[in-house]
Amino acid sequence: MENLRPMRHLRFLAVTSVVLGGLAMSLSSTAAFFDEWKSGVDWSEPPIVTPGDRGAGDRGASPSDAIVLFDGGDLSAWNGVENWTFEEDYAIVGSTVATKRGFGDCQLHLEFATPAEVSGEGQGRGNSGVYLMSRYELQILDSYENTTYYDGQCGSIYKQRPPLVNACRPPGEWQIYDIIFTAPRFEAAGELKSPGFVTVLQNGVLVQNHYELQGGTFYETPPAYEAHSLREPLMLQFHHNPTRFRNIWIRDLLPPESDRNAASPAAQAGETS
Ligand code: MG
Repeated sequence: MENLRPMRHLRFLAVTSVVLGGLAMSLSSTAAFFDEWKSGVDWSEPPIVTPGDRGAGDRGASPSDAIVLFDGGDLSAWNGVENWTFEEDYAIVGSTVATKRGFGDCQLHLEFATPAEVSGEGQGRGNSGVYLMSRYELQILDSYENTTYYDGQCGSIYKQRPPLVNACRPPGEWQIYDIIFTAPRFEAAGELKSPGFVTVLQNGVLVQNHYELQGGTFYETPPAYEAHSLREPLMLQFHHNPTRFRNIWIRDLLPPESDRNAASPAAQAGETS
């Protein structure tokens, strides 16, 4: 197992306390105490693509085998939602939240809208994020006519890979993420066995194509893997911007036999399916 990095663990502990304790803190406010790390990669600016009308209107129905995580009515599938605000068929993020259930390999659908009233710039505008397995952030940001570092804009795997294109809709409009995720696997001793992969469509436009995750996504340190189980909670980030969410569902793609040793993370780590 790799050496543990104290700062990253401090941060993870802080995040955990936020979720479990329901405190009105965020990843960013915690990270603000640390020096920022940036990749330094000279990426080209992702070309702007105007998406079609997919998901621009009313929310769609979920597939019959999907686990509905938020249908507009309640957020009982999540921990830490006390500071969220409900409006009509959507909710406004008010704290970082995590699903009560863990997920690994999955197909995830969610709809979000950055604030219609534009405020701030760069990373401070409509910032949220989808943390697969509580570790791997697919960035949510208002990147419509709002430039920031490319591997930190909407559709990026935070500080790892910019989106292939910028398929953002204007602030206030509903947008869709469709995510296909293969979780990383770890040997029983903790070494990486196979990396994670993520494919993302934003508003029906491919923005990440089977991207090989380089590890967890962090504010202050480079990407790095740390062993974890085959199922970890899905998190949504609170970054002090009133981003809206609706219609979140997930299809669990982890074969049932992988649950045989669900009580033992070390045993889970040895599973290959
Ligand atoms: Mg974010």
